[in-house]
Amino acid sequence: MLPSPVIIAGAGPVGLCLALYLARKGVRSVLLETLPSDRFLRQVLRAGTIHPATLEMLDELGLYQTLESRGLIAPTVAYWDRHNDTRFAEFDHAVLKEDTRFPYVLQCDRLKIVEEAWRALQARDVCTIRMGTTLNAFTQTEDGVEAVVTNEAGEAEAIPGSFIVSGEGSHSLVRKALGIEFEGYTYPERTLILSVAFDYDKAHGYAYRNYLSDPVEWANLFKWGDPAVWRVVLPTREGEDPDALLTDESVQARLNRLLPRDQPYEVATRSLYTVHQRIATTFRKGRAIIAGDAAHVNSPIGGMGMNSGVHDAMNLGAKLHAIVEGRAGLDVLDRYSRQRRHVAVNHTKMHTERNKKLLAEQDPAVREKNHDDIRRIAEDPARARQFLLHTSLIQSVREAEAIA
Ligand SMILES: Cc1cc2nc3c(=O)[nH]c(=O)nc-3n(C[C@H](O)[C@H](O)[C@H](O)COP(=O)(O)OP(=O)(O)OC[C@H]3O[C@@H](n4cnc5c(N)ncnc54)[C@H](O)[C@@H]3O)c2cc1C
Repeated sequence: MLPSPVIIAGAGPVGLCLALYLARKGVRSVLLETLPSDRFLRQVLRAGTIHPATLEMLDELGLYQTLESRGLIAPTVAYWDRHNDTRFAEFDHAVLKEDTRFPYVLQCDRLKIVEEAWRALQARDVCTIRMGTTLNAFTQTEDGVEAVVTNEAGEAEAIPGSFIVSGEGSHSLVRKALGIEFEGYTYPERTLILSVAFDYDKAHGYAYRNYLSDPVEWANLFKWGDPAVWRVVLPTREGEDPDALLTDESVQARLNRLLPRDQPYEVATRSLYTVHQRIATTFRKGRAIIAGDAAHVNSPIGGMGMNSGVHDAMNLGAKLHAIVEGRAGLDVLDRYSRQRRHVAVNHTKMHTERNKKLLAEQDPAVREKNHDDIRRIAEDPARARQFLLHTSLIQSVREAEAIA
């Protein structure tokens, strides 16, 4: 008899990459996605930065070539003092050429990864994709799991499986049903995210990826594609009226403060988003496992959320494959939890908190020192390599490998 499929809830980047990994190894899965097919590719823009360690994984899944042609290669990342309008440091990923086949970042939005992975999966018989199907509850025994869903026809249905993996995002029903605490905090202020059609690189010499520090209004500026589409990320103040923040007048004023212009900016999308720093206390209970945003959420400064979620998927995929083939017992899933929780705490959380602090630092003397430190690191190739090994998440993968 064939082993029961792995049930994966959520066709975000994490659920899709896990399903694709398993499919390529011949492991059966059922992928549940609450959005129906006709709305699936109309989701709002979110993540857009793919780091070198993740590019290697996407290549292993057969997705890299297509994504490269749909994305933008960004070899450098620049740090600016917005207060003085000076670029105080720039790092070139070329120093990582001995560490990775991909010594650059690919700017490519989450939806393109989702679309390509979803397409690739449709060609694989071992994965059953159930669109418009919502996981509502599940039970587990020593031998298997049963998911209770509302299917596309609106009916309740029970689906048996060997394991259940939540790639449902931060509101994960599985995490809540398991009673796993989501430790951490929520920033009181929201973050404003704009998509702007403007050539910031040509107009002001910005790199494709820029972090601008400023005690009043820090910013992130990333080129996302050609013809010019840039993502501009700006802070807001605690308690500011969300509607007022999204008016044309307010958005244009803020873009003009960043770079004055005599014509209005063309703003394609605008959204406010609440940022959390939270990590589940464990990523596994019995045959139920959580991954990606279901297990950890963090500030987007540094572009690590989706990346580390894909890393969870690949790590977990290898372990589920080993269990199905009889090469490992269920306890290998505890190693998954130890490894990926270590990364969430010591890499993703640590770096994204540090990035936010660096950009928003209020004390002029500390700002000056921070900028000097980063300048000196960027000027020394050995230290620049160490710095980029961390920001590119290569170091996190190496450290996780060393955890028993
Ligand atoms: C504005 C913004 C900007 C960001 N920028 C970056 C960035 O630059 N770089 C980066 O790495 N990360 C970034 N992130 C974070 C990144 O988007 C997430 O980390 C990533 O999308 C998480 O992937 P996931 O697959 O875990 O969850 P999601 O992408 O949230 O996908 C979850 C999927 O599960 C489905 N689902 C949910 N519940 C159920 C259910 N019960 N049953 C069935 N289906 C269900 C949802 O419809 C969805 O398709 C950003 C996030 C935001 C909000």
